[in-house]
Amino acid sequence: MVEASKFWFEKACSHAPCNTLIHPWTSTCKDATATMLLSCIKGSYKFYAMVYLIQILMKGKKLGKEEMIEQFKLYLKSGIFGLTVGSSFVTLNCIFRALFFSRFNYYTTVLLPCTVSGLAVYFEPPYRRVMVVNLFVNLVFEYWVRTLEMKGWLRRTPGKETLIFMLGSAVFFYLMRKDRENRKRTPLFWFFTPPRVSKEVGEPIKGISGRSPACPHKGNCSNYILRGTIQLFGVGCAMTMLRTIIPRILTPTKALKSLRLSHLKLGLFFGGYIGIYRLVVCLLCRAYGKDNALYAIPAGFLAGAAFRASPSLPISLAPLTSTLQILGSWGYQKGMIPEQWPLVELLYCVCQGLLFHARVMHEDVCPRYIINLMTTVTSTKADQIQAAFIQRMLRSL
Ligand SMILES: [Zn+2]
Ligand SMILES: [Zn+2]
Repeated sequence: MVEASKFWFEKACSHAPCNTLIHPWTSTCKDATATMLLSCIKGSYKFYAMVYLIQILMKGKKLGKEEMIEQFKLYLKSGIFGLTVGSSFVTLNCIFRALFFSRFNYYTTVLLPCTVSGLAVYFEPPYRRVMVVNLFVNLVFEYWVRTLEMKGWLRRTPGKETLIFMLGSAVFFYLMRKDRENRKRTPLFWFFTPPRVSKEVGEPIKGISGRSPACPHKGNCSNYILRGTIQLFGVGCAMTMLRTIIPRILTPTKALKSLRLSHLKLGLFFGGYIGIYRLVVCLLCRAYGKDNALYAIPAGFLAGAAFRASPSLPISLAPLTSTLQILGSWGYQKGMIPEQWPLVELLYCVCQGLLFHARVMHEDVCPRYIINLMTTVTSTKADQIQAAFIQRMLRSL
C-alpha cells in the first residue's frame, strides 16, 4: 500500500488531468458526474437498507403501518445524504480545478471537497446527526491512534486497550447515571443504559439472597445480574454467528463447521460487561443501604475488564467519545454553547474531510469502516479512483 506524503502526492499528481486522477473510467467531466451519481444512488440506498434493517431488528418489535411509512421517509432522506456525499467528490473536484486551482494539491484534492460535502448531513434529522457525529469522531480518534502507532510514538496492546476501555467506562457510566436526572436526556447508543439512581434507603444486608431496598431494580439481585449476563451473552454470540454464517449461507454445513469456541468471545465481553457492572452496583447498594451515582465509577471500571475477551481499537475508544458527547450536550443545555451554533454539523464536516483524506492518502492507517463504507456507497467507484491514484504514485517513485 502507498503512503502519500504531501511531497510525493504533489510530485506525482499535481499536473495530472482530472480524468486520470479523479475519474479514470471516463474522460469527460460531465460523463463522470452522471456515472458517479448513478453508482452512488445504487450504493447509498443499498447501504442504508442494511442500516435501517439492523435498526428495526434491534428495536425488537413489530412496526405499525404509520411507523413503517415514517421509517421509509427517513430511509429516503438518509439515502440522499449518502449519495450527495459520495457523488459530489468527483464533481466538486472537477469544478474546483476548473475554477480555482489549476493543479491538484495535497489539501484541496480530497480534504477540501469532502469537508464541504459534509454539509449534506443536513438531510438527516437532528438526532441522527448526533449519532453520525459520535461515530465519525470515534473514527477520527482511531485514525489518530493508528497514525501515532505507525510513526512509532506508541504501541498498542490488548492490555492497554482494555485499560483505556475500563477508565472510559468508569467515567461514562457515572455521567450516564447523572444524565438520567436531567429533564432532557442525551440520545446515546450503548450496550445498555444503567438505571436511574434509586431514592429508597434501607438497612445494610448480608448474604446473597433477596434485594436491598436501595437497589435500582426489582426482584432478586442474583436474578437481575444473571438475566442481564445471559441476555447480552446471547446477543454477542448471535452477532458473531451472523457475521460468520451469512457470508457462507449457500454452504450451510461448511458454515456450521467453521464455528469455533473463539466465537464465544464477543458474548463473553457483552455478558461480562453488564454482569460485573450490575454485580458491583448491587453489592455497594446492599453494603451501604442506599444508592449513589458514584457507584458507577468502580462498577464501570471493573466491568470494563470484560473487554479483554474481545479487544478492538474502535470499541476501546468509544466510551471516551460518548463521554465527550454527554459533556457537549450538557454544554448546550446549560447555555455554555449557544443553541444556534451548528457545532454538530461543522464537527461532522471536519471529521468527514479528515477521514476521506485518510482513505486516499494514508490507506494503511485509515479505519477499516471508512474503507468499506466508501466502497459500498460508491458501488466500488472509490476503489477505482484509489487504484488509478496508487498506480500514478508508484510510477513516479
Ligand atoms: Zn473532471
Ligand atoms: Zn440488587
